[in-house]
Amino acid sequence: MTNVQPKSIIVIFGATGDLAKRKLFPSIFRLYKANKLSEDFAVVGVARRPWTNDELRENVKKSVSSFKNSDADIEKFASHFYYQPFDVTDVASYQELKSLTESLDEQYNVPGNRIFYLAMAPEFFGTIASNLKNEGLTQTDGWSRLVIEKPFGHDYPSAKELNEQIRHAFKEDQIYRIDHYLGKEMVQNIEVIRFANALFEPMWNNQYISNIQITSSETLGVEDRGRYYESSGALRDMVQNHMLQMVALLAMEPPIKLTPEEIRSEKVKVLRALRSLSVDEVDDYFVRGQYGKGVLEGEEVIGYREGNSVDPESNTATFVSGKLMIDNFRWAGVPIYIRTGKRMKEKATTIVVQFKDLPMNLYFNKDKEIHPNLLVIHIQPEEGITLHLNARKTPGATSSTPINLNYCNNCGDKMNTPEAYERLIYDCMLGDATNFTHWDEVALSWKFVDTISEAWESTKAQNFPNYESGSMGPKESDALLAEDGFHWWPVGEDNFSPKE
Ligand code: NAP
Repeated sequence: MTNVQPKSIIVIFGATGDLAKRKLFPSIFRLYKANKLSEDFAVVGVARRPWTNDELRENVKKSVSSFKNSDADIEKFASHFYYQPFDVTDVASYQELKSLTESLDEQYNVPGNRIFYLAMAPEFFGTIASNLKNEGLTQTDGWSRLVIEKPFGHDYPSAKELNEQIRHAFKEDQIYRIDHYLGKEMVQNIEVIRFANALFEPMWNNQYISNIQITSSETLGVEDRGRYYESSGALRDMVQNHMLQMVALLAMEPPIKLTPEEIRSEKVKVLRALRSLSVDEVDDYFVRGQYGKGVLEGEEVIGYREGNSVDPESNTATFVSGKLMIDNFRWAGVPIYIRTGKRMKEKATTIVVQFKDLPMNLYFNKDKEIHPNLLVIHIQPEEGITLHLNARKTPGATSSTPINLNYCNNCGDKMNTPEAYERLIYDCMLGDATNFTHWDEVALSWKFVDTISEAWESTKAQNFPNYESGSMGPKESDALLAEDGFHWWPVGEDNFSPKE
């Protein structure tokens, strides 16, 4: 099958930064190697540092040097990169950028198509968008698209203000808000697993599912991002975007078509059906945590409050778990538990769908325990599915034994699985907004999360730090499920045995 090879000039604002180096350059390189870009493309890097084209190209080469490729290929790839040093608040410099992109259109045979990728702090988003429009950079014969990184606002009012600034210059269908979880293979696979299997979809409701658990845990702490994290915390950093997006994909109705509009409309309905909480109810549904010191992989590690740029009395949550209720016909009464945190025992993003027990079990296993059927979707680092069933292993036995059916998506050649950013950049070039977040989703997610922030920012957590580094979070998080008669299922390695 031949790939579509979209032609465009990609302008990266913040080309000297961490995101560009670690994610964007390697992703564009992988697209190039996968033959998804023709030779007709160029990348213009913008930042204040007085680099030259050659300096940017050297940095691009370094960032892709770990790929097994000939020097000639890397050299050829890097030759598509250009650098323009300027402060994005300086209006005059946009004219030079305009001339450069127009001359690159001619040189690379690009019909005026532009991606403006804002890999910079959000405070600049509005200014850049206005300057691009006012200085005529969006008025070309082709299309113009704006790619925006998280965080999109700090709460609903600030997100709304930011959105209004951007919308002065770009229409909603030109704005691609990145949620990189939506670029992950197994997150995109949620819809396929649900809607392509007669086995699951008829059971995907409150008749058969007892609860759903979504965990996204990291072993890393906040490291040197203390300043950013102090004002964000796990709620804004993870729940408002990635966790709620996964909830929406798991709970939405089947779309009538696989178009961005139809899928989004179903996701929005889930977010609208989330049971809204009053500030007083927050602690009945949500648990906050902050890591203390502990031992991780045999090493002693410091607590959050001891980190750089962190208030020694900090009230910031590095862990959140919560119970979400979706008040509609399909999900009435089914808790969806979410859990995310730093410095936890496992690095894993895992979804566990627990099915209800049979009304009567004829085949208890030896220890008289019931082993419910589970569908486990492994998002990262492993990618795959495990189905937990019961069967007889010993001929003639009257008891059952839990067995696992495993499918591993990335056990072969990992290089063949596209990275999240690689997919998302390609989708943006193709004009496919399915895996980007629409403003309606952003707005509803912020409104939901704002109540929790309000409750937690108005009362100081008395028990912080309340979980040890290297654990799976505070005990209150276990109690949240225990009150409903459930417990957290293991995630990561503990729940994945592809060789079995
Ligand atoms: P970063 O390393 O601090 O880079 C910021 C970039 O902005 C640098 O290239 C800097 O270059 C440039 N810059 C700053 N002020 C400027 C100005 N006035 N005019 C022109 N350029 C300016 O940040 P980052 O980690 O790459 O993150 C960028 C964005 O992506 C942020 O919104 C962040 O939240 C988001 N994000 C990052 C990651 C990640 O893994 N890094 C993940 C998710 C989201 P000069 O100093 O040379 O001007």
